Amino acid sequence: MRSTQIRTTFTDFFTSRGHQVVPSSPLIPDDPTLLLANAGMNQFKPYFLGETTPPFSRATSIQKCARTSDIDNVGRTNRHATFFEMMGNFSFGDYFKEDAIAFAWELLTQGYGLEKDKLWITVFEDDDEAEHLWRRIGVPASRIQRLGMEDNYWSMGVPGPSGPSSELNYDRGPAFGKEGGPAIDGERYVEIWNLVFMQHLRGEGDKKGNFPIHGELTNKSIDTGLGLDRLAAILQDAQNVCTTDLLLPTFHTVQDLAGRQAPSEGEEKVSFQVVTEHARSIAFLIADGVLPAKDGRGYILRRLMRRAIRHARRLGIDGLVLPATTASVIGNLSDVWPELTGQAALIEQVVTAEEESFTRTLAQGTRLLDAAITHTREKRSAALPGETAFELADTYGFPLELTVEAAREAGLTVDEERFAALLDEQKKRAKAGGKAKTAEALRKMDTYRELAAGLPRTEFLGYEHLTAET
Ligand code: ATP
Ligand code: MG
Ligand code: MG
Ligand code: MG
Repeated sequence: MRSTQIRTTFTDFFTSRGHQVVPSSPLIPDDPTLLLANAGMNQFKPYFLGETTPPFSRATSIQKCARTSDIDNVGRTNRHATFFEMMGNFSFGDYFKEDAIAFAWELLTQGYGLEKDKLWITVFEDDDEAEHLWRRIGVPASRIQRLGMEDNYWSMGVPGPSGPSSELNYDRGPAFGKEGGPAIDGERYVEIWNLVFMQHLRGEGDKKGNFPIHGELTNKSIDTGLGLDRLAAILQDAQNVCTTDLLLPTFHTVQDLAGRQAPSEGEEKVSFQVVTEHARSIAFLIADGVLPAKDGRGYILRRLMRRAIRHARRLGIDGLVLPATTASVIGNLSDVWPELTGQAALIEQVVTAEEESFTRTLAQGTRLLDAAITHTREKRSAALPGETAFELADTYGFPLELTVEAAREAGLTVDEERFAALLDEQKKRAKAGGKAKTAEALRKMDTYRELAAGLPRTEFLGYEHLTAET
């Protein structure tokens, strides 16, 4: 089943069950606590918190999500991307557990035709009700596993609704990993759909594993998320999220640029997938108004671009990689996401400018790095100084991870503690010397500003959020 049909099957199923179709919100959320949209429920938060009365009691959406917290998993697991589409159904004080479970089961087994005995369920350890409902629907006890707070309990991170969750996982077979269910192996039993049952109210100061539940909510709600990329991988028998029809044309572009096929395993495979996957995130972020910057969302974008470029160079792609790969994303996905076409020119200009400038600094930085490695060895020291790593990051835009990788290849470590201290000092200085610096930074941003004329501004929301998100 093609991804276009997966989307319409989902939307049709829930519209015919009384759900209002709500378009995806932009990746830049209307929420000061969040750097980038990372779940379908983000835009409905005011409804769940009771701040706004929803105009409908059931909704369905296909939400663009960015999760840079998963960046290191790309190419290493089969199931993680930094950008993905999350399909969801939501109940605001309307139906609850029983219907949410019945809907998910019916859609997966009938709508998408997944084999019942390949579906494994996880429920929260105390949630007898959920287990009972799954048993009643026909899932044998042997394929239901109970997990704790860490995996199967959800809360918003602020005082408000929370509750147990239940996940539907698909067994991809012994070629993918160990037997024993999702509690044992998340690659073989890949999580595809998460159902959150908001039934409790949590108070201030709560921490995972140690929280006061202030009782049951009168208005119980449902929040679910089904990953389009993961479902497409299963329905298209693709090994991973980089080779479904959502990304295959881009994967081919990367292979064309590299002049060879991607291998099926190893570090090269990772590089092919990183370049492919990041190209999509980059295109979507720019289309929604994010521009490269030293901090905030702009830094996330910059990090994705630089990472994709580095991996492309490793594959021997010496010419520009981002313009062609983002163009292929636009070509493949703009029917569904027309903002890509609308911002195609901007995407091309931004990625070209960033790649040209990073390519220059990459060359200069590499020389500095090589010299530092030689010097460190000569001194018979095991660690590259934090100062070097900091200068590389600050002046040459070398992300710390790149320096660490290069050092590791040379049998060295990096004094990351010193690096962190220097970064901290710099942040403090930046805060103190605020205005003048900002003016200078703004002048530097002029090129991007011209490119971005007419796009919504991105605001910097602080390092706290950046750290939480990445
Ligand atoms: P995992 O445990 O595999 O990291 P998760 O529990 O973090 O997934 P949820 O937060 O429950 O994921 O998100 C709901 C659904 O969105 C998941 O069941 C999955 O289908 C999809 N999803 C989550 N993270 C990613 C990702 N990085 N790439 C692709 N799809 C994802
Ligand atoms: Mg996760
Ligand atoms: Mg999970
Ligand atoms: Mg989950």
